Amino acid sequence: MPCEFLFGRQTQLGTENSFIVPKCRNDLSFGTENSFIVPKCRNDLSFGTENSFIVPKCRNDLSFGTENSFIVPKCRNDLSFGTENSFIVPKCRNDLSFGTENSFIVPKCRNDLSFGTENSFIVPKCCNDLSFGTVIQYEKEAPYMLFDTHVHLNVEQFREDREEVMQRAKQAGVEYMVVVGFDHETIPKAIELAENNDNMYATVGWHPVDAIDMTEKELNWLEELVEHPKVVALGEMGLDYHWDKSPKDVQKEVFRKQIRLAKKVEMPIIIHNREATEDIIEVLQEENAAEVGGIMHCYNDSADYVQECLDMNFFISLGGPVTFKNATLPKEVAKVVPLDRLLIETDCPFLAPHPNRGKRNEPAYVKLVAEKIAELREISFEQVSQATTENALKFFNIER
Ligand SMILES: [Zn+2]
Ligand SMILES: [Zn+2]
Repeated sequence: MPCEFLFGRQTQLGTENSFIVPKCRNDLSFGTENSFIVPKCRNDLSFGTENSFIVPKCRNDLSFGTENSFIVPKCRNDLSFGTENSFIVPKCRNDLSFGTENSFIVPKCRNDLSFGTENSFIVPKCCNDLSFGTVIQYEKEAPYMLFDTHVHLNVEQFREDREEVMQRAKQAGVEYMVVVGFDHETIPKAIELAENNDNMYATVGWHPVDAIDMTEKELNWLEELVEHPKVVALGEMGLDYHWDKSPKDVQKEVFRKQIRLAKKVEMPIIIHNREATEDIIEVLQEENAAEVGGIMHCYNDSADYVQECLDMNFFISLGGPVTFKNATLPKEVAKVVPLDRLLIETDCPFLAPHPNRGKRNEPAYVKLVAEKIAELREISFEQVSQATTENALKFFNIER
């Protein structure tokens, strides 16, 4: 007798006495065409066969495990996994990893039995022969989506646990990220990360602190790289008067050259500003940067300059400092920037928001920034996450 069931909200997995559920192997893929083992659900909702069952198990990151250490998923009416008292809804992303309660993607099965994409998946159906079934559309259930517009996952501080950091970002609802490259080492790494990850993009630019190291060779290199389909902006570039490695006039010259390049290749720019707001605005105005527009990244100056930035087609991006107890300027800025010109970022590994201040920052914490902005503007978190994500998608010209 064919036993049919669908993976989906409101759909029960089989009945007590007969149903078959796909199960997870070590590599997290579900079965192969010729051999796979199906867990079965018992009264107690654990997986397996009647006499000997194999339970998918959860690893640290909620991905499924190996034979020797595992957590038995349990199935509830709503098909979520977990224990009786606390369960975690499994979700499948492109990479087949599983998710969290608040943001998840329903696994789908393709022809090859691998799992699918966010918006359209194939529900596995179980028949006698255990082959997989028909296609239905399933709407992703994600109450919110965040876009971290400025991350440095391309630096040494993330070398050892980058995958886990990215997993935590997904679990926190960070759907998109832009990895910012700023020198010889970080630029190729930003592009490599963007190539290997969906919804991850790269920018290329020369940091003002290192302006003294930029020659024509580097400028030409940047010009070549903007052709890459995952490079979405030039930067970070700008002025940094905190450090004195590069003299101000050298910084300005390198900044101007990059703005001119951006205009030539018609790409927006990302501005790094430290203790140099007035000079930055002057250079941007003189070079007519309004033509390409840009982002004032981790904006940390008085709200008095916001209008001039908006007039030049710039977006204002706020990061961790908006959450700092003693930071008054970014809090003022968070209230006055029009919602359709506001972006959020972490600038990780730097500038971790409260209560993680002083620790290594990571993209998952961008949620703390969005929450703080919502509080300051007295609007909902969902409004902030939706507006900032829409703004970023539009700014970087990213299609969903
Ligand atoms: Zn910066
Ligand atoms: Zn940066």
